[in-house]
Amino acid sequence: MASAPAAAPGVVVVFDFDRTIIEWDSDNWVITKLGAADAFRRLRPTMRWNPLMDRMMAELHARGKTAEDIRDCLRSAPLDAHIISAIKTAAALGCDLKVVSDANTFFIETIMAHHGVLGCFSEISTNPAHVDADGRLRISPFHDSAAEPHGCSLCPENMCKGKIIEKIQAMAGTNNHHFIYIGDGMGDYCPSLKLSEGDYVMPKENYPLWKLICSNKQLLKAEVHPWNSGEELEKTLLMLVNKMITPPAQVSSFDCSKCEMSKPASTEVGHHQALPVPH
Ligand SMILES: [Mg+2]
Ligand SMILES: [Zn+2]
Repeated sequence: MASAPAAAPGVVVVFDFDRTIIEWDSDNWVITKLGAADAFRRLRPTMRWNPLMDRMMAELHARGKTAEDIRDCLRSAPLDAHIISAIKTAAALGCDLKVVSDANTFFIETIMAHHGVLGCFSEISTNPAHVDADGRLRISPFHDSAAEPHGCSLCPENMCKGKIIEKIQAMAGTNNHHFIYIGDGMGDYCPSLKLSEGDYVMPKENYPLWKLICSNKQLLKAEVHPWNSGEELEKTLLMLVNKMITPPAQVSSFDCSKCEMSKPASTEVGHHQALPVPH
């Protein structure tokens, strides 16, 4: 008796944002380009990253920089053509794409919309941001550490990416879903530890996540595939995706106008190591 063909597994691809989707760091970019690096250096020793970014937006506001100036600044930053292509192709192949980042909704949505890939993502988990009545950009923590501390010692108090991955895993269900996690920073280590056998982690070579993974490979159940350029990220991601999806789910005519039009569900996130602002 012929059995029903096995359904193609669902592939969930989770991207970190700073230094993963974009080659640089969005906080760093805005602060430097809009001329607030001096205030950043002065305040950094006294403040945690997330509240510091909110404070930096106040600094910019006080210096007459508008939310639109910040948007323009974000739009002026490059996004590697291979990354754009990797995102669009993975979406076309039927992958469910998500961002988990310690940046903020304003920065991420501005950059991804500008490059026409925002609609390729079903969910963005990052720190919430909004422009207040005075026109100042406000950035809040993803996890409210006072009301509900996440209790993870690996992660900064405003965001545990591992907790977010656990939630995504629970939503995806246990059957026939596989994850690919792509990241570079220390904050990407906790979610990498949550991955199961059959999942993949793609650390940026020579960056903190890669170093942490290499320090004790035994701790990870997921298979590790490092990359060190946009081109290599694209090649590796698509190789893994093609390996996971079985023939029935080949490239369909994917309407990329969707990418520009729709907006993914926005939750909040982010995490940074000590991040020197370049001159
Ligand atoms: Mg990063
Ligand atoms: Zn954590």
